[in-house]
Amino acid sequence: MNKRLIIAIDGPSGAGKSTISKILAERLNYTYIDTGAMYRAVAYSALRRNIDIEDEDALFRMCADVDISFYKKNGSIRVMLDSNDITQGIRSPGLSLLASDVSAKKVVRDALLQIQRKMGESGGVVMEGRDIGTVVFPDADIKIYLDAIVEERGRRRYEELIAKGEDVNLKDITKEIIFRDRNDSSRELAPLKPARGAYHIDSTNITIEEVIKKILGIIGAFEGY
Ligand code: C5P
Repeated sequence: MNKRLIIAIDGPSGAGKSTISKILAERLNYTYIDTGAMYRAVAYSALRRNIDIEDEDALFRMCADVDISFYKKNGSIRVMLDSNDITQGIRSPGLSLLASDVSAKKVVRDALLQIQRKMGESGGVVMEGRDIGTVVFPDADIKIYLDAIVEERGRRRYEELIAKGEDVNLKDITKEIIFRDRNDSSRELAPLKPARGAYHIDSTNITIEEVIKKILGIIGAFEGY
C-alpha cells in the first residue's frame, strides 16, 4: 500500500486552495484540513467573548480553552467551535480581516500549530493555509503554492459570497483581498510565502480539474521514486 502522504497547499486568498484541497482529499481518500477556518474560529470566539485581541493574556487563556473541530454532514464540511456550528458565521468579509489580525499573534499561532501538527502527523491529509509548507509541516511530502492574479482571486471570492446570499461588491472584495494578503505576507510570524521545494501552480487561466491533474501528476511522480 502507498504511504499516506502529508500534502501542504499554501497561497493567497481566493487562489482556489479550498476547492482544490477538498477535491484532492476526496479523490485520495485523505482528510481535508482547512487551517484558515481555525484562525477564523479563534477570531469568532474572541468576538463572541468580547476579547480585545491586543490583550495577549486574555487571548492566551481563550486559546487554551477553545475546542475547534470539523465534521462532515451531507457531503459538506462543518466547522464547530465548542459545540456550535459556526460554518456560516466565519465567512463574512469582516471576520476575514479579524482572522488575519488575530493570526499575527504569537499566542494564537503557537496554540493552533500544536493542534494542526497533531491533526496531520500520521499522514493521509491535505492541509491548506498560509504556512503549512513553511512552518507546520516543513517536511511535508508534497508542497504546493497555489496562486492566481488578484483580479481573478477577487472575482472568485465575490462570486462565492454572492452565491451565499451576501450583499457585497466586487471592488470592496478585491480591496479586502489585497489588504489581507499584504497583512499575511508582511507579518513577522509565519508570513505567507512559498515554502522551499514547493511546486508553484498559477490557477488564473486553468480549470479546477487541470489544477487537480497537475497535483495528481506531482504525487504520482513522487510515489514513483
Ligand atoms: O484561508 P482563509 O482565508 O480562510 O484564512 C483566513 C486568515 O487566516 C488568513 O487571511 C490568514 O491571516 C490566516 N491564516 C494563517 N495561517 C494559515 C491559514 C490562515 O495565518 N495557515
